[in-house]
Amino acid sequence: MSNTEADPTEIRCCTEDRAVGAARHPRVEIISARDVPLGGPRAMPVRRTLPQRQRSLIGAWCFVDHYGPGDVAATGGMDVAPHPHTGLQTVSWLFTGEIEHRDSHGVHALVRPGEVNLMTGGHGICHSEVSTAGTTTLHGVQLWVALPDGARDAARDFQHYVPPAIDLGGGRARVFLGTLAGSSSPVTTFTPLLGAEIVVEPGASVTVEIDPAFEHGLLVDTGAVELFDTRLSRGVLGYVGTGVSSLWVVNPGDSPARLVLLGGTPFGEEIVMWWNFVGRDHDEIAAFREEWERESDRFGRVDGYAGEVARLPAPQLPHARIRPRRNPPTADAHYRPREENR
Ligand code: MN
Repeated sequence: MSNTEADPTEIRCCTEDRAVGAARHPRVEIISARDVPLGGPRAMPVRRTLPQRQRSLIGAWCFVDHYGPGDVAATGGMDVAPHPHTGLQTVSWLFTGEIEHRDSHGVHALVRPGEVNLMTGGHGICHSEVSTAGTTTLHGVQLWVALPDGARDAARDFQHYVPPAIDLGGGRARVFLGTLAGSSSPVTTFTPLLGAEIVVEPGASVTVEIDPAFEHGLLVDTGAVELFDTRLSRGVLGYVGTGVSSLWVVNPGDSPARLVLLGGTPFGEEIVMWWNFVGRDHDEIAAFREEWERESDRFGRVDGYAGEVARLPAPQLPHARIRPRRNPPTADAHYRPREENR
């Protein structure tokens, strides 16, 4: 997926000043989605929860787009012409529909529900994404992972995995990255990460052990749930900081709730994100943009894309220098008396 905002905004992050509440549960920060048109024939809308002013990273997860269920006849589906990436991995996870992926690593693959596809675009890659002709409903998430400094020049790569459904008692999970409830994904990452689809049965609750060194985000795809004592409605991402060893999720509704749980160790490095690039400063981003515009070998070529536009042009750089994104503090999700916080 490509960030098709014509004028990608610069996002400043600030710490949230929230009143100290009850001490029983970890604090859950609600990250609401903003609607962004993805582009394509009729601009399929996506709900973007990361990055935001409020928070730009959860672990190394730096981009969370949630879309559908959308009627492809009405939205035109997904048709993203070849576009570049640097310094990141893309993680595609579908609930419904099918997307044809082509990249300059020579991969031609179909993204299907319940199958994770992770593409590494460290040094540089380009790819196209098109929903297939047989797709009537499109529904899924498109996620990006920022690469740490030692890996952000990594070679192009592509990994595919079909995780089994595991029983959580009251629900089930499919762990596509990392480890949860005894299920481990073989997909390799450059920082410790977790990615899992979780379904909670109607009227049921699930408790899952998590790594206290990780911070987590729980995205609600369908239904509404309570994460500890905080209600999360559809499309919302509930954030929990480090220092928490289990998550407790209740589905008070009368139909199954589907969630995506993302986690990772706090990333620690400042990044600059602009359009489809992750870098470390403005000049680097400007150089990536210039290389894409002159069709540099950094990104290679996509074969077989049949859309009207052969490659997406980069937007204009902002007049002001792009500044790094800083994340608010991540440590300790538990409420503490105010004086101990200062
Ligand atoms: Mn993309």
